[in-house]
Amino acid sequence: MAVDQRRILQTAIPGPRSEQLHARKGAAVASGVGTTLPVYVERAGGGIVVDVDGNHLIDFGSGIAVVSVGNAAPRVVDAVQHQVADFTHTCFMVTPYEEYVAVAEKLNELTPGPHDKRSALFNSGAEAVENAVKIARHHTGRQAVVAFDHAYHGRTNLTMALTAKNMPYKNGFGPFAGEIYRVPMAYPYRWPTGPDNCADEAFETFVTQVHSQVGEQNTAAVIIEPIQGEGGFVVPAPGFMARVAEWCAIHRIVFIADEIQTGFCRTGDWFACEFEGVVPDLITTAKGIAGGLPLAAVTGRAEMMDAVHTGGLGGTYGGNPVACAAALAAIETMVADDLCGSAKHIESVMRPRLAALAEKYDAVGDLRGRGAMLAVELVEPGTKDPNPALTAAITSACHREGLITLTAGTFGNVLRFLPPLVIGDELLHEGLDILDSAFAASA
Ligand SMILES: *Cc1c(COP(=O)(O)O)cnc(C)c1O
Repeated sequence: MAVDQRRILQTAIPGPRSEQLHARKGAAVASGVGTTLPVYVERAGGGIVVDVDGNHLIDFGSGIAVVSVGNAAPRVVDAVQHQVADFTHTCFMVTPYEEYVAVAEKLNELTPGPHDKRSALFNSGAEAVENAVKIARHHTGRQAVVAFDHAYHGRTNLTMALTAKNMPYKNGFGPFAGEIYRVPMAYPYRWPTGPDNCADEAFETFVTQVHSQVGEQNTAAVIIEPIQGEGGFVVPAPGFMARVAEWCAIHRIVFIADEIQTGFCRTGDWFACEFEGVVPDLITTAKGIAGGLPLAAVTGRAEMMDAVHTGGLGGTYGGNPVACAAALAAIETMVADDLCGSAKHIESVMRPRLAALAEKYDAVGDLRGRGAMLAVELVEPGTKDPNPALTAAITSACHREGLITLTAGTFGNVLRFLPPLVIGDELLHEGLDILDSAFAASA
C-alpha cells in the first residue's frame, strides 16, 4: 500500500484524534518520555508521514536519521515478513543463524579501510558505544576515554558521561561513569580566534589537555562523531579529525568514530569518515542500519575486536534475526538505488535554498553539514548569541504547516534537516517553501 507522496492537511496539526491519543499518553506514559510533534502516526512511506487524522506530513526528520531508505521500504518489509514467519529469536549466543553473520560481513566490507575486521551486533546506539569502550579498554589495558564538547553518544550511564549536554540528557541522573575526559571540539563557527585557526588550535589543545590531564599511557580511546548529531551538526574543521586519528595511532589509543547518525549514505558517503580519508579503529553504527528495526553494531580491527574473551560481549537480543534481515534489505536498497548519490542530490537541492535564507536573514549565523544532513544555526542578529526562541518559533510554524523538522545544538538553536534519502524533489521543495514562510513570519 504505497503512501500518496503529497502533503495534505485535513485538520489543524495536531488534529483531534491525535489530541485524544496524546491525552491518553499523558495518563499512561512516563512524562520523561517527550514528543517533538504529537501527531500520532498511522502509516508512512517515502517522504510522507500519515497521521490518524488523515494529514500527510512532509518528513524532514526520518525518525532521527533512521528511515534513510524510507519508512516501510519495500525490500525491508518483504525481508522482515519472511524472517518473522521463519523464526523470530533463538539468541545468537545460544544457537546462531546466518543473517547475523551476513550483516557482520557486510559491515566489515562497507566500513572504511581494507584491513581485517570483525563486527558485533547490539540493539541500540548507546549499547554499541558502551561496547566499543569495553573493547578499547580490553585491547589497551587502559581506562580513560576522551570525548568532545557538544558530543552525543547516548543515554545509558556510560554514554551519558560521554554526552556533553546537561539538559535534558544528564540533569539529575548522576553519578556518571568515571574515567571520561572532555576536550574542546574543532567547531569552526564558534572557535574563539576564527574558523581559519580552528583545526590547528583545536588539535594543539587536544594534545596538550590529553597529555597533561589524562596521560597518553592511560588513554584507551578517543571517541568522536565525524559530524556531530544532537550537538548541532558541527562539522569538525577540515583536517582536525585526521590529525587526531594519526596522533591516536602513534600513542596506541583506539580511535572510535561514532557514525550512528552519520552512517549509511546519510552524508553522501557510506560513512562520513571517508570524506576526509579517515580510517577509524572502531566504528559504531545504528540508526540508518536497518530501515527502522532496532539494530546497532561495533565494527573494527580484528585484533582489537578479538581481544575480548569469549562471552565478554553480547546480549539476549543483540543481532535479532528480524532486525538482521531488515538490515540486509536496507543495505541492498542503499546499493541498488545509489542512496549515497541521493544524499548528494538532496544537498544540491537544499543547500542553495538554505544559503539563500542565510543571505536574507541575519539570524542565520551558520549553514553547515553534508549530504542529507544539513543544518542552520540561529543567532541574535549581529551577534553569535544563540537564539533558541527563534529556533522554537520556526520549528512550531513548520510543524503547523505539516513539515516535520527537528532541532539540535547545545544551545537549542540549530534547525537540522534529515530527510529520508528517497524523498522526491517536489516534497523537498515544498518543505523548503514552508521553511521560507516560517522564516518570513518569525525572523
Ligand atoms: C542517536 C545517537 C546515539 C545513541 O543511539 P540510541 O540508539 O538512541 O541509543 C549515539 N551516538 C550518536 C552519534 C547518535 O546520533
